[in-house]
Amino acid sequence: LIPVITIDGPSASGKGTLASALAARLGYQFLDSGALYRITALLALGRGVPHDHEAGLVALARQLGHEIPLRFEGEHVWLDGADVSAELRQEEVGQTASKISALPGVRQALVEQQVAFRRLPGLVADGRDMGTVIFPDAGLKVFLTASVAERAERRHKQLISKGFSVTLDEICSDLEARDARDKQRTASPMVPAADARLLDNSHLSIDESVELVLGWWTD
Ligand code: C5P
Repeated sequence: LIPVITIDGPSASGKGTLASALAARLGYQFLDSGALYRITALLALGRGVPHDHEAGLVALARQLGHEIPLRFEGEHVWLDGADVSAELRQEEVGQTASKISALPGVRQALVEQQVAFRRLPGLVADGRDMGTVIFPDAGLKVFLTASVAERAERRHKQLISKGFSVTLDEICSDLEARDARDKQRTASPMVPAADARLLDNSHLSIDESVELVLGWWTD
């Protein structure tokens, strides 16, 4: 069976950074499952589909990679012929992604897209429900956390460096709202898998986290 490592945890905990570094070190595929929710959100915003119109959103999600071409290329995401990588990081897109991800039909429509990333020689998948719902048989499951203050600080730096203008306070309240929605939704709420290893990286560098998880993997 093709090996899988899952990295789940709240917004801005550093899942993407950790997961992509692990994938690079191991030569594995990398799945940023949040990107699929953000892509669906971006399409919905562009086409005027309201964030509570489940049937419309499901129809969009089902077209991804089929009628609507989608390609992941390193850090870049090509959607319908355009590089949407920067747009996907916008706050409005993130907030819409957070709302639509509470809809069971949307989650279901994106399962197949996520499972398709399991290719040789292996996969590192980051998200909220990778270890609980999408890859319950993963060989290593990590649940990554960091304090809200630390996460807000990191996201602030990241957004400012990309030229977005946003305050630390705005980020804090957005993170708290998203955490609440991720934990409270009935469809696949964000909880650590029973067999997940918990990792609080508030006081760890990226390299330290990577080495720690690689150690768990090779154990
Ligand atoms: O991780 P990221 O911030 O890119 O995810 C965008 C949104 O998609 C999150 O706010 C979360 O609610 C949702 N999401 C999810 N399940 C996943 C990945 C992301 O519900 N596996």
